[in-house]
Amino acid sequence: VQLLPTTDQAGQLLAVLERCNDACNWISERAWVDRTFGRSLLHRLVYYQARERFGLPAQAVVRAIAKVVDAYGLDKLSQRTFRRQGGCAFDDRMLAYRLNQSTVSILTLEGRQTIPFVCGDRQRELLLTQRGESDVVFRDGKWYLFARCEVETPDERDIDSFLGVDMGVVNIAADSDGETFSGSVVNALRHRNRGLRRKLQAKGTHSSRRRLAHRRRKEARFARDVNHCISKHIVAKAQDTGRGIAVEELTGIRDRITARKPQRATMSSWAFAQLRAFLTYKAARAGVPLVAVDPRNTSRECPRCGCIDKRSRPTQSRFSCIGCGLAGPADTFAAVNIGRRAAVNRPNVRAGAVDFQSSAPVPGTSYRLLAGSR
Ligand SMILES: [Zn+2]
Repeated sequence: VQLLPTTDQAGQLLAVLERCNDACNWISERAWVDRTFGRSLLHRLVYYQARERFGLPAQAVVRAIAKVVDAYGLDKLSQRTFRRQGGCAFDDRMLAYRLNQSTVSILTLEGRQTIPFVCGDRQRELLLTQRGESDVVFRDGKWYLFARCEVETPDERDIDSFLGVDMGVVNIAADSDGETFSGSVVNALRHRNRGLRRKLQAKGTHSSRRRLAHRRRKEARFARDVNHCISKHIVAKAQDTGRGIAVEELTGIRDRITARKPQRATMSSWAFAQLRAFLTYKAARAGVPLVAVDPRNTSRECPRCGCIDKRSRPTQSRFSCIGCGLAGPADTFAAVNIGRRAAVNRPNVRAGAVDFQSSAPVPGTSYRLLAGSR
């Protein structure tokens, strides 16, 4: 939701945000110097001092400690620093929604402020299930709240078989029915932006850095929209055909992406993690079971004869079995293997939909993405 503070309230929001991040930076330095990264130990080390030093409410200090602990959770190789105007989580003691009035009450350094907000109908409906924290975010001169919501999910349906999904670079995703989801629109945008990004980086002025951040976010929004479209389409297809969805375990995707170094500039691993996350929540909301399978050799195994060989994959996009001669698009075959593995793990359902016992060609429909059609 977007907040609509008065000029005075915006100043107060900025003050509390900067104070929180100052506290995070100070706590981060203490954690780094003292090599203390656990939540309760760090709390003991810094809590009282931080409260005194920054004059923040108790909950704000607790959130600041949590933010620092989270940041070191990734690795402890360098001291974490935080942007002064970076987003901060406010819990329900610091921030309360008044949906009837379309306002929020936010605790600032000068007491509580009542600030109006605006949002769409869908967001308003979701806000009824808002629980716990919200992130207060300042971006391009505007104020936003990112609320966490809890949505009830239906029971998983009974299924007959699995729709296998393979994620790749040329095609963002391919399913076991032979449908592919092209990455060309996302990759084209990335390529176009890459030249501009270099220019802006070389300039290094304040305004060029701002334009750079703006570009980056625009690109991320676009990729996000594409991921919403793909995941929505796949979940609807599985739902309509009474199937579950099978994907690779995430570790496998990350390993494969890092192994393909030259392509890293096209589709980054977070985009795959995002697609996977969208698939997971949309499937859960639709009652469609989603299963993750062991990704080993899914792209080297022949779906007809079961032969596993590196040489069956002469190029990135092509599969040609050295055992039985079956040939076709590599990502579709991988998706079939993924769907089958999920079915093997659940013996009461049938394996993939494509019949490789006959030598009929694999159906090859291609789904072109239209941005905004999610
Ligand atoms: Zn074969």
